[in-house]
Order: sequence, then structure tokens, then C-alpha cells
Amino acid sequence: MTIQNNLSDVIARINLAATECHRSPQDITLLAVSKTKPCEAILEAIDAGQRQFGENYVQEGVEKIQFFSDRTDLIWHFIGPLQSNKSRLVSEHFDWFHTLDREKIAQRLNDQRPNDKAPLNVLIQINISDENSKSGIKLEALDSLAKQVSLMPNLVLRGLMTIPAPEAEYERQCDAFRKMEHAFKQLQTNYPTVDTLSMGMTDDMSAAIHCGSTLVRIGTAIFGARQYDQ
Ligand SMILES: *Cc1c(COP(=O)(O)O)cnc(C)c1O
Repeated sequence: MTIQNNLSDVIARINLAATECHRSPQDITLLAVSKTKPCEAILEAIDAGQRQFGENYVQEGVEKIQFFSDRTDLIWHFIGPLQSNKSRLVSEHFDWFHTLDREKIAQRLNDQRPNDKAPLNVLIQINISDENSKSGIKLEALDSLAKQVSLMPNLVLRGLMTIPAPEAEYERQCDAFRKMEHAFKQLQTNYPTVDTLSMGMTDDMSAAIHCGSTLVRIGTAIFGARQYDQ
């Protein structure tokens, strides 16, 4: 399978899931997660029409952004955990940040955002189901962090992101996603800039779309399995 074929398959799956729940496929953004994959693979996806890419590692992501710097039509999302000493690179190079989980990082990203760039689009990461994961905040802490972000002029609060604990069954996947959908709608009533619910990966994208996801982050189904040992 080529990346082009994989992309068409993923888009078909998104369209099917959207149609099943009477949503418009246009309301769901496909983020191609290219972490660990070479620039040639990204180029293949670009040639097939893909424009939005997600990266997990700061250095690797910045190198790819710089490699494609003449492509002003690409949109780059940082979706990995971020140490505060690397926040400047994210703020200087990326368009979106999906994993906000504390005020300190928000403040740094805000202060470090270059003046000639549009405000950084920010999603707050919610730890919805995984007790063992240290990433993301509990829903109880959302109001306070959202308020802080909304007051920072170089950040735009766009919504929520989550990586639930893996579940094989569709109904179990939906349990976590429905909680997210509820929190997202609640947040939207308070902040007019909120329009993005980032949830759904290769193995749970249908359930996520059925529960209101507006952005799915897909790696394996587009680029194949990742190798970390190379
Ligand atoms: C790697 C990763 C993905 C992509 O996962 P796949 O199962 O390969 O589609 C999505 N979101 C985040 C945050 C990731 O780290």
C-alpha cells in the first residue's frame, strides 16, 4: 500500500463514520501524524493533498518544518508532551499545540510567541480515563486553566484534546469520548473561540467521530507502523 492509497482509505473511513451519525465530513479535520517518519513520507502525503501534520518530538518536528519552509500552505501541530525548557521552539515554529496541561507552559508559550506570527492555537489536554498517565488534567481543573489561557493575547483557546486508555471495544471507546464531548460543549458556551475537539487515532477514529470529534490524529493507518529502534 502506498501512502496515497492509505490516505484515501482513511478519508473514506472518516466520511463513512461522519455519514453514519449525520455529520458533514467537512467538519472533521484529518491530522496526519508523521512522527518518526522521514520527510519523503511527508512529501508523498503532501502530493496526495494532505496539508496538516502532527509531530511529537520538538527537535524532529522543527527540522521537518524547516525542511518544508517554502510550503506556506502546511499547518504543523505539536501533539507530544512538552518540557518547559523546549517551549520556545514550539512557540516559534508550530501553528497548533495540543497538549497544554499547566499554566506555566501556557505562560511561556505566550511570552515566546514571535510578534510576526498569528497567535498559537492551543488545546487543553484532558486525562479522561487513564489513571496511570501523567499527561493531561482532570476535568475538574479545566475551568481554571481555560480561564488563564483565554487571557493570554498570543494564545487562542481552540478546544480540547485527549488520548484515552486503549479499549478494544467500540462501546468502551465511546464511554471516554462522550465525557469529552460533554466537556467540549460546555467549554464552547463560555469561549466563542472553541471549535476543536481533538480525539481519535487509528484504532478508535470511528467511535471518536460518532462522539463529536472535529479532528482525528492518524499515524499508523497513513504511514504504516512506526519503528523506534532505527
Ligand atoms: C502517535 C500519536 C497518534 C497517532 O497514533 P496512531 O495510532 O498511529 O494513529 C495520535 N495522537 C498522538 C498524541 C500520538 O502521539
